[in-house]
Amino acid sequence: MNSQLTAFITLCCTSGVLNLYLCLYVFLQRFNYTKIAQLFIGYTALITVYCFASAFCIIATSLEAIKIWTTILYIGMATSAPLGLLFIMQYLGFQLSKKKLIGILVIPAISIVLVATNDIHHLHYRVFEIDPVLGAPYIHQEIGLWYILHGIFTFSSMLVAFLLVLTHWKETAKSYRPQLIALMCGQLIPIITAFVYLLGLTPQGIDPVPMVLWASSLLYLWSIHSSRLFRVMPVAKDAIFHSINDGVIVLDESYRLIEFNQACNKMIPSLTRSMFGMDFAKVWLEVTGQSIPFTGERVVKTQEFELDLTNRTYQVRISALQHVNHGSGLLLIFTDMTEVKNLQRMLEKQAYYDELTQIYNRRVFFQQCNQAYVEAKGMSSSFTVVLMDIDHFKHVNDTYGHAVGDQVLVHVVKACQDELKRGELFARYGGEEFVLALRGCTLVEGEALANKLCQSIELQPLKTTEGIITTTISCGVAEGTNGEETLYQLLNKADKALYSAKQAGRNRVHVYRDNEKAKIYNH
Ligand code: GH3
Ligand code: MG
Ligand code: MG
Repeated sequence: MNSQLTAFITLCCTSGVLNLYLCLYVFLQRFNYTKIAQLFIGYTALITVYCFASAFCIIATSLEAIKIWTTILYIGMATSAPLGLLFIMQYLGFQLSKKKLIGILVIPAISIVLVATNDIHHLHYRVFEIDPVLGAPYIHQEIGLWYILHGIFTFSSMLVAFLLVLTHWKETAKSYRPQLIALMCGQLIPIITAFVYLLGLTPQGIDPVPMVLWASSLLYLWSIHSSRLFRVMPVAKDAIFHSINDGVIVLDESYRLIEFNQACNKMIPSLTRSMFGMDFAKVWLEVTGQSIPFTGERVVKTQEFELDLTNRTYQVRISALQHVNHGSGLLLIFTDMTEVKNLQRMLEKQAYYDELTQIYNRRVFFQQCNQAYVEAKGMSSSFTVVLMDIDHFKHVNDTYGHAVGDQVLVHVVKACQDELKRGELFARYGGEEFVLALRGCTLVEGEALANKLCQSIELQPLKTTEGIITTTISCGVAEGTNGEETLYQLLNKADKALYSAKQAGRNRVHVYRDNEKAKIYNH
């Protein structure tokens, strides 16, 4: 065997040994590594098969032996290229389904079968024989149709893998770049070598690629140690950008739209990539129908506002952004607050309103009335309260049932609301008792309004399935004194007047006058 062949064998074996070492090293360390190590183990194992089978091809002396080793070589070579691509896709954060994995291995599988059975159909090699001039192991081959297809597929896999890594160069932090160098060289070295072979610059009939693969394995080892490949990876920013649930919009230093993520596109479907480069004020108007609620120049600290769009509520946070290579821009983050808002509205409703009648409850009444009473005192303006109580309501419940009783309560509230202007504080005070706080109203005005309510309720009987029910109410009216009197004392006076009205026979209004017992005024 001449020295050139010995050198070829040595180089192939060196590549094989280094790849085997790499494969075993990562395999033994796999529990410390991230998931992508698994694909890498398969990838390097296949390259090992490729390198050693190439060495055996060169050692072989008969055509039969060369054919067998060529088939084994194809098992490693044909599958390692797409597996390398899958490995890089996984590294960059692409989601790999089982279907994709199997789909990408179909062509290599056909190639292996066609190489193994080439003598029958000659689809891969039209001619495959020992070179008549140089002798074994040099091969004289004429390529077949499938060889071209297989070549295109293998080249494309490596090229795509290389380009994918290249596109992530800029956005990858410096400390992780050795990882990218190793990954790119892992693809580029076989591409260039195969190209040189196709140009006829290396001995024909002997594949030079396995002779250079030791270089890429050394680069992988370097990157494992220098930038902790497999242990810590710069997870692809694109993948993060598109996988976050919040919508994100990025503007450049001139406040033009330059990027948005998938979540944002779901929230605002009318936002399209064709709007890239457009002034954002225009984009905003187009997609929301509203004028932009901020100007970029003024965004120094993070700003927030709410955006209602297609029945959903978003919280939008805007903050200044420092781009890596160019000036500042803006970052808009959209958080869907619809559920939170709905819950908040529901809780507010439950906390503020009476469930049956949908008017304010006692707690809210006291809160708001206290404030209004203090204000009225401060302004020395009149302030009157009216306490109302349905007459013989127990009898309604007992006669018609609790459900009809509920209907009567709702009916009384509705009748009162029809008489009230907006602005009075009207609330459910207790079971069948209601309260009215009248700002700027004197005792006489309060009494008049109470009388109006009494009449209105009496004149509007409720039609129910159980029959027509006429309801009456009794009212107690009291006016604040602007002195030290508290709201509780004022309400107590109204209660006394109400008690007096009940005592006097119900369906009437009594007012409370200081230094006097509650006086009866019939309507
Ligand atoms: P009076 O004329 O003296 O006010 O007599 P009344 O029967 O109206 O007064 P009483 O305080 O004896 O009875 C009030 C009743 O109101 C008792 C209670 O069961 C009923 N009640 C309280 N809250 C509700 C409610 O939400 N729905 C119904 N259906 N009944 C209620
Ligand atoms: Mg009562
Ligand atoms: Mg009552």
